[in-house]
Amino acid sequence: MHKNTGWLDLWPGFHVTDSRITHESAWLRLEPLAKLPLRCGQCLGLVNSVHERVTRNVRELPLAGRVLTLQVQLLRVNCTRCGHCLQHVSWLDRFARMTRAMAQTVAQCCKRLPIKHVAQMFSLHWSTVQQLDKRSLMGLMSQLPQPHPTRLVMDEFALHKGHRYASVILDANTRRELYIAKDRSREAVRPFFAALGEAGCRRIQAVAMDMNTAFDLEVRHWCAQARIVYDLFHVIAKYGREVISRVRVDTANALRKDKPARRVVKQAHWLLLRNADKLKGREQVTLQEVLEANEALMTVYVLKQSLKSLWTACDPWQWRRRWKQWLEHCAQSGIECLQLFAKRLRKYWPGILARVRWPMHTGQLEGINNRIKVIKRMAYGYRDVEYFFLKIKAAFPGDA
Ligand SMILES: [Zn+2]
Repeated sequence: MHKNTGWLDLWPGFHVTDSRITHESAWLRLEPLAKLPLRCGQCLGLVNSVHERVTRNVRELPLAGRVLTLQVQLLRVNCTRCGHCLQHVSWLDRFARMTRAMAQTVAQCCKRLPIKHVAQMFSLHWSTVQQLDKRSLMGLMSQLPQPHPTRLVMDEFALHKGHRYASVILDANTRRELYIAKDRSREAVRPFFAALGEAGCRRIQAVAMDMNTAFDLEVRHWCAQARIVYDLFHVIAKYGREVISRVRVDTANALRKDKPARRVVKQAHWLLLRNADKLKGREQVTLQEVLEANEALMTVYVLKQSLKSLWTACDPWQWRRRWKQWLEHCAQSGIECLQLFAKRLRKYWPGILARVRWPMHTGQLEGINNRIKVIKRMAYGYRDVEYFFLKIKAAFPGDA
């Protein structure tokens, strides 16, 4: 047995021969224990002679708040297969400037914290942290099994504040991210279907997406049998932008002379767009007052609820009844923007009805959207699209 120097067996195969600890930093010298079987760092085979000793400084996890540097004496061994080679060390990768434990901890922290914070926590450069995170994520990704999707979710999101977009494709059953690429054109998603192959494309039964994309054309081209399903989240978001906001602005303008009433309507913006069941008691009262005083707002608000109910219809007949009724109400409302919205939505009816046959989890796209926003905020500032995409991929590894 080797003599324990008081540092437990923190670095197997090595012992601490010197140390220096100040208020800011800690430094330990590690030397290999004598009489241990030595292995070649390249082929892991046993070796029995040492060629020379070399010294490498490596970073270890902080010690009681101090940056800890290990000065490690490593042996270059004579391997019959590889020649002169560095010895194998279980806690240190071959060319690493940091222990494996530290690299793993840094990558773990990157799951929850922005790179900048992690870099500060460990006194590392942000590019080092990014590298570690990238390597760890790619390792995780490579372990995932081959996917065999039958239902897909396609979406797009803004890459930066400018109008550059990216497309993302998920397995609707497992929520695994299958594909991500810059741009939101048909061409952007083409490689996915090409790689899926003929048999893979034939397996696809349904694809959920936003109405206003070019994706449906590409899906029809590759998967003729697949049904296009329009997602509730996008339709309602569009309704909010094109109908509710419009009517609210018009109502506020009409009340130009009635200052207090006008202010109430203007402030009601978020109340009108949010789900009624998510509002607090006071907010519900305010919303009710606004609606009662403004007929047009009341109408578009109620019609938002009945539009939503199309996504919960339990059979095609019920769906048809609700759809016809909704269109009729819109036509009779006398509200121009609502009539226009209904007219445009009309031609998309097969994709709305398809939801009855192919129920995709409600809010799945909304959830994905929100998650991507959080990741974007965390990775913001570095503008490394490849890394950003890898983070998104890792956030949706699938649950099956
Ligand atoms: Zn070897």
